[in-house]
Amino acid sequence: MSGSRPTPSATTETCTLCDRVLAPTPPPGGWIHRDHRWAVSGHPGLAVPGWLALQTVRHIATFAELDEPEALTLGPLLREVSRWLHRATGTDRTYTYALGESVRHVHLLVGAPPAGADPDSRGGPLLNRIFGRDPTLIDADGSVVLLAKIAALAAGEPKPYPAPRCE
Ligand SMILES: [Zn+2]
Repeated sequence: MSGSRPTPSATTETCTLCDRVLAPTPPPGGWIHRDHRWAVSGHPGLAVPGWLALQTVRHIATFAELDEPEALTLGPLLREVSRWLHRATGTDRTYTYALGESVRHVHLLVGAPPAGADPDSRGGPLLNRIFGRDPTLIDADGSVVLLAKIAALAAGEPKPYPAPRCE
């Protein structure tokens, strides 16, 4: 690998996601994946079991600002995150969203509907509860247990993508 290592920008005093990657201690549940482009952890705003966040390590505000290596590695990483969730939770699908309205640092939220959820607790109704930070969804202990399971899966897998050739 060549080139300089991307680092979070100097805007950390106003960016909670830069703060996360610069903090000396890992987020609750630890880092599921971490390299110099991408970091994967539990959902930073809501401790819901089976919800993860992929964020860029460097501070960029929109996906339009991804550099070539970030763009090339996002797809394989998203695929792996989805596979980890399928294996860890037994889910039949994963949901993904990225808004960036309150925290303007590129991040994707990826999660699984709860096991055995009825139709009113899946899809749009579930996302509305997550967007509304529904406190009944919070299970901090359950989230940490599931994050450990996902981290063990991730640790046993090859890296989700080879080093991009465009560096
Ligand atoms: Zn940031």
